Amino acid sequence: MSMKTTVLNCKVDLCDKKTVLDLVFCAIESSKNFQIITINPEMIMNAQKNKDFFKIINSSDLNITDGVGVELALRIKGIKPERIRGVDLSRALIELASKNNYKVGFLGAKEEVIQKAKENFLAKYPNLNFVFCKNGYFKNDNEVIRELKTQNPQILLVGLGSPKQEEFIQKLKKELSGTVMVGVGGSFDVFSNNTKEAPAVLRKLGLEWLYRTLKQPERFKRIFPVLPIFLIKCIINIIKKKG
Ligand code: UDP
Repeated sequence: MSMKTTVLNCKVDLCDKKTVLDLVFCAIESSKNFQIITINPEMIMNAQKNKDFFKIINSSDLNITDGVGVELALRIKGIKPERIRGVDLSRALIELASKNNYKVGFLGAKEEVIQKAKENFLAKYPNLNFVFCKNGYFKNDNEVIRELKTQNPQILLVGLGSPKQEEFIQKLKKELSGTVMVGVGGSFDVFSNNTKEAPAVLRKLGLEWLYRTLKQPERFKRIFPVLPIFLIKCIINIIKKKG
């Protein structure tokens, strides 16, 4: 079962991985487009100042709790969500595609990264029906959209970073049919072994962000003003609503 709530007026769906996969299956089988956002504090904070992005977030079909930041915001509200990591969801979608012979597309990351990610998935699922695989450094959006329309993948992972990937998916929603589209951030770097995943114990503790920040210190600037401000805003929001 899937329930909805909001964090700073942005929709967040509360569901487990099995429900997500059931919804994906139903969307594909009924030839509907379906957008999934793996929502995080940076996106929610961006939506506070960017109206178009706010609309994109609130018109997505499913916004799942990826990182610990949104989980904390929900816990402040008294909700204990299931965290579904973008990489885990992507892996589950690929497995679903392999079982059902769904057409798969990858868009994003550097050329050698995306090709290696594809190769690694093909090594695991040799029957995987890849119909599209392109790096994320293209110049002409329309050309890519045209190619995607021709191939019409049923599962499309888009890793262009946020908000670029959500904005691109927004355009695609009008062009494709029966496609599940997910913004996957830097997941292709993980699938290609270009980036190492945080050890399981850190993932369990919700400290993946710490591991990634230590590995890529430039991320510090990105995360640090945003995360504390996000949590403070969430607390103020709740006090205001209760007061
Ligand atoms: N990227 C891309 N095209 C661009 C900018 C970024 O394909 O124009 C890719 C980049 O190579 C990386 C991903 O988008 O694979 C962004 O990763 P990031 O770690 O920023 O995303 P996060 O996982 O933090 O959402």
